Amino acid sequence: TDFQSLGLSNGLVTAVTENGYDAPTPIQQKAIPLILEGRDLMGLAQTGTGKTAAFGLPLIDRLLLEKKRAVPKGTRALILAPTRELVNQIAKNLISFLKHTPLRVSSVVGGVSINGQIKRLSKGTDILVATPGRLLDLVDREAIDLRTASYLVLDEADQMLDLGFIHALRRIAGLVADKRQTLLFSATMPKQINELAQSYLRNPERVEV
Ligand code: AMP
Repeated sequence: TDFQSLGLSNGLVTAVTENGYDAPTPIQQKAIPLILEGRDLMGLAQTGTGKTAAFGLPLIDRLLLEKKRAVPKGTRALILAPTRELVNQIAKNLISFLKHTPLRVSSVVGGVSINGQIKRLSKGTDILVATPGRLLDLVDREAIDLRTASYLVLDEADQMLDLGFIHALRRIAGLVADKRQTLLFSATMPKQINELAQSYLRNPERVEV
């Protein structure tokens, strides 16, 4: 299997090849076609399996297909991850795929000045990668509008629950668009993750690697 046969656009296949990826990993083979179809997805996968590209590539393709909306502060896709390191890693990975596209990605994490983030967000972004706590600080300061987000990705959902982000996740899920595509990735599937998925995913497809 190659990236092209998974249904990704030529531009993205080029970007992926330039990144040095020869062939899709198992999670990419399973998840990419489903996400391109618009399905909600629950992915059981560890870090290192290529899951960032598994959700990032089809998400980018879907954003490129949609007509761009003129919402200055709105974000079109929201990716939540438990730690600064992971947020930065996801953003870096996505930037490498976005080279030949007009899409913009921003990241927000705690522990750094919020004012710089507010200023950057005021210019608008297509994809926002964030830790839940800092994201809600920005929402409370009206620096970001999440109603325009019709894609929601929860990465390392089990870690986010372990870090006590359940209330933040529930609040954020209520702020993004009702009509959306939701993707949840987790290394483990405890009861709480299943409950989370049942509340926020619509008829999800399950993939495991
Ligand atoms: P992740 O699990 O998303 O953190 O990815 C782990 C590492 O594998 C990252 O450095 C990715 O750039 C790399 N990677 C992801 N997909 C592929 C692929 N299909 N071929 C080669 N490397 C990949």
